[in-house]
Order: sequence, then C-alpha cells, then structure tokens
Amino acid sequence: MNRLAAFLLLAPWCLQAQAQPVPVTDAIPGWKWTMDSITTTVNAVRAGRNLNPRQWPGGKKVAVLLSFDVDNETVTIRYGETSVGALSMGQYGARVGLERVVRLLDARRIPASFFIPSVSLALHPEMGPLIARSGRHEFAVHGWVHEMNATLPDSVERALLKRAVDDLTRMTGTKPVGYRAPSWNFSPNTLSILRDMGFRYESSLMADERPYELEQRGERTGIVELPVEWILDDAPLFDPRGERYSPPREVAQVWMLRFTFSHWSSLNSSGA
Ligand SMILES: [Zn+2]
Repeated sequence: MNRLAAFLLLAPWCLQAQAQPVPVTDAIPGWKWTMDSITTTVNAVRAGRNLNPRQWPGGKKVAVLLSFDVDNETVTIRYGETSVGALSMGQYGARVGLERVVRLLDARRIPASFFIPSVSLALHPEMGPLIARSGRHEFAVHGWVHEMNATLPDSVERALLKRAVDDLTRMTGTKPVGYRAPSWNFSPNTLSILRDMGFRYESSLMADERPYELEQRGERTGIVELPVEWILDDAPLFDPRGERYSPPREVAQVWMLRFTFSHWSSLNSSGA
C-alpha cells in the first residue's frame, strides 16, 4: 500500500506557452481513415511499462516533483515579436520571480527541476549560479529559444535541440539528461531525436500521473516519461490579461484537490 502517489508538476513561467496543435495541411478527417492508419498513428508514441516503484525510498507514501519552466523572454522572441511590454514580463522572471522561488525551495531543502531554454540562460546568466547554489536542483532542456518544436522539420528541430544541449552544458557545467518540449508536444520526429541524443527522461506527455516508459511504434525506448498535465500548470489558470484568469486561492484549491485525489486514487488502485 505504500505505492505511489502523485506527481505534481508546476511550471510557473510557462505563460503564453500553451501547446499548439500541430498544423496539418490537407488533413483527411479520421472517419475516412482505415483502422490500420489509426493504429499506426496512435502507436507512434505510447505509454509503456508503469515505472512507479513498489516503494519509495524510506517508505515514503508520496513523491512529488516540482518543476519550473524558466521561459523569460523566449516565448515572445520565438514568434519574432518585439513587444517591449511582453519582453519586460519575461525579464521579471529573471529579476524577481526566480530568486523568490529558489529562496523558498532552498529554505525548505526541496530539490526541483528547472527546464530552461538556453537563450533564457544566455540572456540572464546570473540565473545559473542562483539555481546551482544549493546543489539540489537540476538544469534540464526546454528548447533553444522555446521554439514550437512540434511544427518544425526534423533537421531544424534536431539542430536547435543540439544547440540547446551544447549551450546548457557549457553554461552550467553539466550535460542535461532531461527534456521538456517547449510546446509540451512532440513532432513526428521528437522521440527519435531524444533517443539519438541520449536523453534519460522526458516530461511533456500526459498518459498517466505516474512515471512510465515511452514506447515508439511498439518498441521500448528506455526513456522515462515524467508526465505533466495542463491543470497542474499555471499558464492555463493565470492569464493576467483576463481571458482565463483564476484567483490564486482557487488555483491553490485546484492543485490541493488534484494532489489529494491522485494520492487517494493511487493508494486505492495499487492492488499491492
Ligand atoms: Zn515553457
């Protein structure tokens, strides 16, 4: 009964970064597909083995992953926009927000993962030592300039990801092993690129609340998926321009209920 629990993934700086559907030109509606076509499509990337451990270290009942997408100005720049107001919002994250988050985590000795477009770190190199100072946190990949990877051809997506890894390795002194797609979505090539580049885990997909192994066309990949879900992200809930704004107390309630439900349901469905 000590089986898992819940993964709570928060990404406080993912504003404006909602996943965009992959544009499909001349798409044929699904009702005209064959069953083989449907099966081939859904099996391109699937959840494989459940990697939830039978028991967490120390007999703990619950494991929670806190993660932060440090987007800063990249969500503006990626579209080629030059809005000074939007860029100032990106600068806020580096000047004000990040320090508050890291201080809170460090005061409570909580480790976290920071997914960073390498352009963000190049614009604000002071973020590197701030995140690194406790020795608990992880730097992970979040694109080069928060590019919409799901819309890019293989060669461009691959080149940008290699550049992101090289830059992050040089700036942090550690080669990153984790990836979160900037668009929280895959192109048809993303998983192959991640496999070719030797990533150990991925954190953009939503087939479970617990860790699982990614499968590609029915084949095990050895890549661990740490799933996300938009309801656990701040971006859909906090839109300061008012389209989807939710009061902070209500957002906290959503996350607390989600945690409670995930914990409860995993304890009651473990069968252990
Ligand atoms: Zn992001």
